[in-house]
Amino acid sequence: MRITFLGTGTSQGIPIIGSKHPVCLSDNSKDKRLRVSVLIEWDDYAFVVDCGPDFRQQMLRAKVSKIDGIIFTHEHADHTMGLDDIRPFFFRQGDIPLYAHKRVFAALEKRFDYIFTTGKKYPGVPSVTKQEIINSPFRVGNIDVTPIDGLHYKLQVFGFRFKDFAYLTDMKTIEDEEIEKLRGLDVLVVNALREEPHISHFNLEEALEFISRVKPKRAYLTHISHLLGFHEDVQQKLPDNVFLAYDNLQITI
Ligand SMILES: [Zn+2]
Ligand SMILES: [Zn+2]
Repeated sequence: MRITFLGTGTSQGIPIIGSKHPVCLSDNSKDKRLRVSVLIEWDDYAFVVDCGPDFRQQMLRAKVSKIDGIIFTHEHADHTMGLDDIRPFFFRQGDIPLYAHKRVFAALEKRFDYIFTTGKKYPGVPSVTKQEIINSPFRVGNIDVTPIDGLHYKLQVFGFRFKDFAYLTDMKTIEDEEIEKLRGLDVLVVNALREEPHISHFNLEEALEFISRVKPKRAYLTHISHLLGFHEDVQQKLPDNVFLAYDNLQITI
């Protein structure tokens, strides 16, 4: 299984438009972060988790020519607003499978009514198939994916376990029984926004505490704010098996 970090930034991305913050002005490519998303590939399958406003650029950058589906964590704009750019995939492949909680589909249907309409569509509008996720394993390609249920302040959010890889973002609260689903991981990806506490995201300390409870072999931090600091400085402060993810990073499991 190969994981490509398509984006590792928080909702505004890094740099933030117009910002003079030193991290936003950094020349290090690892300090440039598109909105958060990952590409997960195994056998001949390619699935994307979330589809934010940078989706087009991310698909071009990672040279993705086919996707088997998009799996949504939740409906926030930084995770969904690239949906229109499934068009090239739709033209080549036909309807694109989407996997999401029914509340997330309701939000997508409002924002992208022209995609979901059952009436006559304007020429060129893409089509999708909908697979609602509840908190129990579901099939993607030839494997079962286990949802991990959590809270993002008061909003329900899903993380996902694919074999021994788990991807959790925009989490703030996770019940013990959900943590049990994360035993024996090779790689855990989890959100760590910044050092200061935040109402709806793990800060760095909470993310590290979570990692030490889950005990994966390795962990990667994502959904990063410019306020966390320069990539190289933050990496030096982390435990040996914890890494700050960065855009274009690929790992194999
Ligand atoms: Zn987010
Ligand atoms: Zn969010």
